[in-house]
Amino acid sequence: MTATATHCPYCSLQCGMTLVREGRAALAVQAWPAFPVNEGALCRKGWSAVGLRGSRERLTSPLVRDRETGELRTASWDEALDLVASRVRSLQAAHGADAIAVFGGGGLTNEKAYQLGKLARVALGTSQIDYNGRWCMSSAASAGNQAFGIDRGLPFPLADIEEADVVVLVGSNLAETMPPATRHLDRLRARGGHVVVIDPRRTPTADRADTFLQPVPGTDLALALGLLHLVVAAGDVDEAYVAARTTGFDDVRRSGAAWWPERVERVTGVPVAELRALASLLGRSVRESGKVMVLTARGAEQHSQGTDTVLAWINLTLALGMPGRLGGGYGCLTGQGNGQGGREHGQKADQLPGYRMIDDPAAREHVARVWGVPAASLPGKGRSAYELLDSLGQDGGAKALLVFGSNVVVSAPNATHVTSRLESLDLLVVADIVMSETAAMADVVLPVTQWAEETGTMTNLEGRVILRQQAVPPPDGVRSDLEVMAGLASRLESAGVFSTDAEEVFGELARASAGGRADYAGITYDRIRSEHGVFWPCPSADHPGTPRLFASAFATPDGRARCVAVEHRGAAEVPCDDYPVHLTTGRVLAQYQSGAQSRRIRDLPDTGPFVELHPMLADRIGAHAGDLVVVATRRGELKAPARVVSTIRPDTVFVPFHWVGANRLTNDALDPSSRMPEFKVCAAAVRT
Ligand code: SF4
Repeated sequence: MTATATHCPYCSLQCGMTLVREGRAALAVQAWPAFPVNEGALCRKGWSAVGLRGSRERLTSPLVRDRETGELRTASWDEALDLVASRVRSLQAAHGADAIAVFGGGGLTNEKAYQLGKLARVALGTSQIDYNGRWCMSSAASAGNQAFGIDRGLPFPLADIEEADVVVLVGSNLAETMPPATRHLDRLRARGGHVVVIDPRRTPTADRADTFLQPVPGTDLALALGLLHLVVAAGDVDEAYVAARTTGFDDVRRSGAAWWPERVERVTGVPVAELRALASLLGRSVRESGKVMVLTARGAEQHSQGTDTVLAWINLTLALGMPGRLGGGYGCLTGQGNGQGGREHGQKADQLPGYRMIDDPAAREHVARVWGVPAASLPGKGRSAYELLDSLGQDGGAKALLVFGSNVVVSAPNATHVTSRLESLDLLVVADIVMSETAAMADVVLPVTQWAEETGTMTNLEGRVILRQQAVPPPDGVRSDLEVMAGLASRLESAGVFSTDAEEVFGELARASAGGRADYAGITYDRIRSEHGVFWPCPSADHPGTPRLFASAFATPDGRARCVAVEHRGAAEVPCDDYPVHLTTGRVLAQYQSGAQSRRIRDLPDTGPFVELHPMLADRIGAHAGDLVVVATRRGELKAPARVVSTIRPDTVFVPFHWVGANRLTNDALDPSSRMPEFKVCAAAVRT
């Protein structure tokens, strides 16, 4: 019997767990109480995570689409990789290097994310690379960079929640998305702290709150401006902090001036009394030297004004003098398993490893030196995730797409349109562990290892770099993503070294990140094992890592936070006669992201999509619980059973996004800064 300390394959908490193996067959999940992030607790997704092990759903052989029958058939690895390489060469000869696009994922390990960026820029020479993390927390990343000069989801350990006096959760349902994290809220409340939840739905997280505000979807920005207005009017701005640690606050002060409470109520639907009560709670807390923490998640961020929404909440915390104080400040609760690390190592269209900008000549020189290629050979900035997919098969767009760790047929906004773009490709290659909806469309499917079968690092929502360790060998016929990338690079006669050893790749990644904002230079696998993870930045072997940022300075040139004045623009689509309600989307406890893995695990209920609506709306359309109802938007329709609940606003319907359907409805309007699509709100009609 062997026991391997590792981490859950799913969300950004990256809970520690022990995998116990007897012989070759059985693999069981046990608690790992010593790992500090979850102290042995797991949600049901974590407890059942080994459910895909030995499943007939696992892909164990490469597949290529037969030209005559149009069906996928098994192939050898040599045949599959030779085919990909030769098609890549001919497409690039005909259309140029950018004829090939690469799409990565926020669930890939740091090593894979790093190697994928290098594969694109060095072996393929294409600028066209981005990843599904663009649809996760990119608005918070953009706001963090603007305000603090750096983008780390939480600039403090998650357990700091317990040090706060008031925690405001904006658009976060962590009781369902990361249940072990709720113990921090429970401990905070046990010692007299106050939890505020802001959400269009009374979620299980809202049930644990002391204060619950239920705004119209897409109006969180106006709500933050209204709170700022009241904080300023009450004289609760921490003027000494603002003077010493920020710039630009006068403009921000003015930005809230017109957001008097009655106007905020008209826009957000939050009653004036509730708004005033929350503002006075925040002010009282600050006057009594208390600490206020604001945490946003996708509910606040997945909007065409997502970046500005986050900036508005950051401005509020700066007005209260919070960022940099133990137990106070602003943080983003990232979503995907490697939502943090996945965006640090070069998968993004505009970035090289270490969060370096791809158009910065010094950054290009540094990374090119590590990669052993001339800086001039590196391509420039590519398209963001949705724009990349939208351009496929079009003039100037790529003709082939290589997908690693993503299921865009389910997860992309305006998914029917995206699927039609995939159909227009000359070549679609998908590396995955199961036949996802996207893999089913591919010309070549490459079966790759899953988490328990490989080693690699992830960076959790706190910026803590952790190590997933191999507990079992992969099934025969399966290769790691690193082996797939190395196989492609060698067939393309690429410059540079493409190692298949994860620890070796991590060493290279650490060198590439050295001196960058996300500096891993002092982190090694041995340190991660012995220290229960290491927080970046960690620039040298003798550096302890950095659990808390901003205590004395922000990461801006002058060390001060930037207060960026923003204005509420509203959602790209608002209800009208034809589409009279708001549609919002989200997650349920027992499923994860596009469901490619979790829907195939027997112990996790696979309910299929459903439509949550208020009894008043159900009455209006004549629907009862369990009836099939149709939700329609300007982009498509979904028919699913109704769940009639009084926990949702009467003007809003909710559909979970783990199944095909929800994202056929969602809006592809993009945030101008982060290029985040507006997943969280659009105008819809609902009928029986
Ligand atoms: Fe922990 Fe998230 Fe895995 Fe649940 S899904 S066990 S909260 S890492």
